[in-house]
Amino acid sequence: MGRNPYEIFLTQLEKGAKVLKLEDYVVEVLKEPERVIEVSIPVKMDDGTVKVFKGWRSNHNTALGPAKGGIRYHWEVTKEEVMALSAWMSMKNALMDLPYGGGKGGIRVNPKELSENELERLSRGFIDKIYKYIGPDQDVPAPDVYTNPKIMAWMMDEYEKLVGRKAPGVITGKPLIVGGSEGRGHSTALGGFFVLREALKVKGESYEGKTAAIQGFGNAGSFMAKFLYEAGVKVVAVSDSKGGIYKADGLPIPEVIKHKQEKGTVATFPGVETISNEDVLLLDVDILVPAALENVITDKNANDIKARYVVELANGPVTPEADEILYSKDVFVLPDILANAGGVTVSYFEWVQNRMGYYWDLEEVEEKLDKKMSKAFREVYEAMNEYKIGSREAAYVVALRRIVEAMKARGII
Ligand code: GLU
Repeated sequence: MGRNPYEIFLTQLEKGAKVLKLEDYVVEVLKEPERVIEVSIPVKMDDGTVKVFKGWRSNHNTALGPAKGGIRYHWEVTKEEVMALSAWMSMKNALMDLPYGGGKGGIRVNPKELSENELERLSRGFIDKIYKYIGPDQDVPAPDVYTNPKIMAWMMDEYEKLVGRKAPGVITGKPLIVGGSEGRGHSTALGGFFVLREALKVKGESYEGKTAAIQGFGNAGSFMAKFLYEAGVKVVAVSDSKGGIYKADGLPIPEVIKHKQEKGTVATFPGVETISNEDVLLLDVDILVPAALENVITDKNANDIKARYVVELANGPVTPEADEILYSKDVFVLPDILANAGGVTVSYFEWVQNRMGYYWDLEEVEEKLDKKMSKAFREVYEAMNEYKIGSREAAYVVALRRIVEAMKARGII
């Protein structure tokens, strides 16, 4: 997994704090998550044995509202990673002007090795351990890497059983039928698509005639491929954990998506060249979309990046060292806390709808998402120009201003 992700967050925090000339004691508060819960979850396996899984839920800062952020299932999840991801959620939610603090959860498990029943028992078991610490006004989980609407429904159901009432706003990213929102499924990618459109606009460009490469073909990457393809962008390469594919004059994305759905990977798509996950990042394209995991663009490969726009649909794909290299090469990086914020923004819409008990149609959701993403982009762009700083620092500046103001208003600092 490379560098400790929490240290990376601390570097980013300090950079943003320096621009804003924040007092040391303010930064001290933001350096520590408010709360990290560690649990062990014993799960009865189908063969009658019991396996114990480790899980965490971290709330980084809740000055702006209840903690909000997903739950990740991954065999390499660590406490530090969950802490970092929760801190990035604080920044993301503040940047998007959502009434939320930052939270994140994770279970160290390879979900692909569990049966559906085992996965359900694990998901319910996690909620059994943390239900006192989550809730619509306290901490609101959602999907993340290798978790999905089905798992959210199990978790909501378990929570409701334990508290003895309906509480759809306890978790977002649910299936539509049990209180999910229209548009949540493709919202991370659509948010990134809107933000990139704005970035192209300020450079006097558009999607027309552009080429793109995408690393990661899960929920975020596959929908991004679709939106770019539909906008006329030539998507020349995509990859997933099993490998990548390349076609110089553009991949037939709808067919690739179908192949992924049927075969579980893009790597076996016929009639195209294969390419490694690492090489996807180095292609000579206009737009590069890291949409998988952390730490993939580092000081080792940043100099070889040829794209002019990097859209971080993954959380934490670019290290601080790589950031500086990309900045010096004049690459327009759309940082994770902006580029992938469409997901949590529609999660917020879902939570609002749950609380009202009144549901919007897709058009309304997408229109509201566009407004939010465009406004956040403008604010980041203004901060870039005002302080003459890179886009990630600028995004931190906008976010930190809000968090600090809320902490002051509450009398925490
Ligand atoms: N896991 C997503 C993220 O990293 C979504 C979080 C949410 O919807 O609360 O932003």
